[in-house]
Amino acid sequence: MVYDVSIIGSGPAGLSAAIYAKRANLSAIVIEKEYEGTGQIAESSRVDNYLGMPGISGYDLGETFREHAVKLEVEFLEQEVTRIQKEESGQFQMTFSDSSVIESKTVIYAAGASPRRADIPGEKEYVGKGVSYCAICDGSFYRGKKVAVLGGGDTALDDAGYLAGLAEQVYVIHRRKEFRGAAATVEKLREKENVTFVLEHQVKEITGEAKVTGVALEDGTAIDVDGVFVAFGSVPQTALVKDLVELDPAGYVKADETGETSLAGLYVAGDVRTKKLRQVVTAVSDGANAATAVAEYLK
Ligand code: NAP
Repeated sequence: MVYDVSIIGSGPAGLSAAIYAKRANLSAIVIEKEYEGTGQIAESSRVDNYLGMPGISGYDLGETFREHAVKLEVEFLEQEVTRIQKEESGQFQMTFSDSSVIESKTVIYAAGASPRRADIPGEKEYVGKGVSYCAICDGSFYRGKKVAVLGGGDTALDDAGYLAGLAEQVYVIHRRKEFRGAAATVEKLREKENVTFVLEHQVKEITGEAKVTGVALEDGTAIDVDGVFVAFGSVPQTALVKDLVELDPAGYVKADETGETSLAGLYVAGDVRTKKLRQVVTAVSDGANAATAVAEYLK
């Protein structure tokens, strides 16, 4: 069978694309590497800016999206795509890690982004032994303990707020005085007695023995912590398409809100594409736009 559209990625962008494709009567398949919740949002402890769902956890929001797709009988396939190829016929062939293939007339690539590493000594060594990229996943291990959150964006601020409810002490270590994240969240954190801001400082090294015991700052200061949450934003997952489509200087796939890329028939949606605001709401609208553009292309 040749599908009308293969959707790679089952985060909010991919699921929204699937729902719109389904309602446009297209044969669609959603390909996901491994189901661990609905994309990056599953790792957000609290989402306060998705219209109509104030305060919902990212995991629950994602599950609501997924239930919607399942209700509309969206077809899912758990496979790792290792290659995307456009054939002479104009169709796309997706090759999986077990060497099987499927074909489709179009592709919506919605593979999202992954956490940016800090690239400092100790980081790799202590992953799973005190270094984490997901406060909601690992926060409960630090009940009554001391943790550091690295970064000054919304993820770092939200993580700090979440961890403050569990840990004895939270240090937010950020390289600048100004925050990239929401001012309202900063104000809320300032009111918390167990949150300390360490601004204009960079962590030079994560130290420890069997597990993390602290961080060393560039000015030589040492802070004792049991856990380090790196919240340095994300990098786009473009390995499968970087040789097929044009990327912008930051490495995101060049595309406007229709998701159309430099390769006819290959569309992108969500965090992987060039855009200003990477949020669930923009990912969801990207998915809708890309599926609509695909339907028009197929006509
Ligand atoms: P981000 O906005 O890119 O913030 C990354 C933070 O990490 C920045 O403060 C940056 O410092 C710092 N950083 C990056 N590399 C660093 C390095 N090598 N050394 C030191 N510091 C480093 O990423 P994000 O917080 O994950 O947010 C991504 C997007 O998702 C944003 O649009 C955000 O609004 C959205 N988001 C929203 C919510 C929510 O609304 N609840 C929650 C999470 C994320 P500088 O500031 O100095 O560059």
